[in-house]
Amino acid sequence: MFNRFMQKMYYDTVKVAKPTRTHRFIKALSDHKKLIRCYTQNIDGLERQVGLATEFDHLNNWQQLDVVQLHGDLNRLKCSRCLRKYSWEEIFVDQKGAEEDASLVIACPNCVEKYRERQHLGKRCCASSIGIIRPNIVLYGEEHPYGEILAKGLEKDISRKPKLFLIFGTSLRVVGVKRLVRKMCKTIHENDPEGRVVIINNTEVCRSSWGDYIDYQVVCDCDDWCRYVEERIPRLGAEGGKAAKKERGDESGKRKRSQVEGAKTKRVKVDMKVDVKVDVNVGIKRQLKTEMKEEMKEISREILVL
Ligand SMILES: [Zn+2]
Repeated sequence: MFNRFMQKMYYDTVKVAKPTRTHRFIKALSDHKKLIRCYTQNIDGLERQVGLATEFDHLNNWQQLDVVQLHGDLNRLKCSRCLRKYSWEEIFVDQKGAEEDASLVIACPNCVEKYRERQHLGKRCCASSIGIIRPNIVLYGEEHPYGEILAKGLEKDISRKPKLFLIFGTSLRVVGVKRLVRKMCKTIHENDPEGRVVIINNTEVCRSSWGDYIDYQVVCDCDDWCRYVEERIPRLGAEGGKAAKKERGDESGKRKRSQVEGAKTKRVKVDMKVDVKVDVNVGIKRQLKTEMKEEMKEISREILVL
């Protein structure tokens, strides 16, 4: 059941997914040397499609890493024993083949080869030395295979004293993520009185639980917020203001069409809506916009993104 579900998710969703403006915004931050690290809960590997580095297996290549995939990556399969990674194509012919094999336990080709070598040399062989192939994702409650490296890497990142922590598109409900975010927020505020935490998401997070941790809450679509920032601070954008403008043109065209066709286009609120430390009124909202803009301009050090 598990394999069948994961296969369907890979072939129907992940394999065909395309990066969004938010992915490209994060890539631009990395290109501008503003990004310390992006910690993601997504398993679609779209960050890699825009050219961000996502692979790590030891602390030595941590510094080259752009994105830490907290829950793994469904684009890869992995051996439970030797941890060798495979593409789906290396193991299954195609989607149909994968469906047919869904109920089978698939032995890791690398482990099998090693087993045969030992057999050939007359060494002791143990069937339990052969791992099985499973999707390279970390399930809830499961420990991350590189959990220890991850914890050390996080300490390293925090010690670089990031000035801004951006939280994109999450309502912060998963326990492990909550803990991680609280830790990051706390350290950012302790390290630097100017340190800021901003959350951008379509739904609001609970103010009583997050008021002490998050400075700004922006209730809107992440892509719209990235566009908002890129238009106001072109040097943070992918290719300056030009690319942003062009794409805006394309998208507004698309939107018009979809409205005409009566498609269910969700209306977005592009508003810097709530500062959890200040009472909200129109005047403050406006002030927040300018303040945010100024703060983003002032960022001379790096940014952490979730
Ligand atoms: Zn193996």
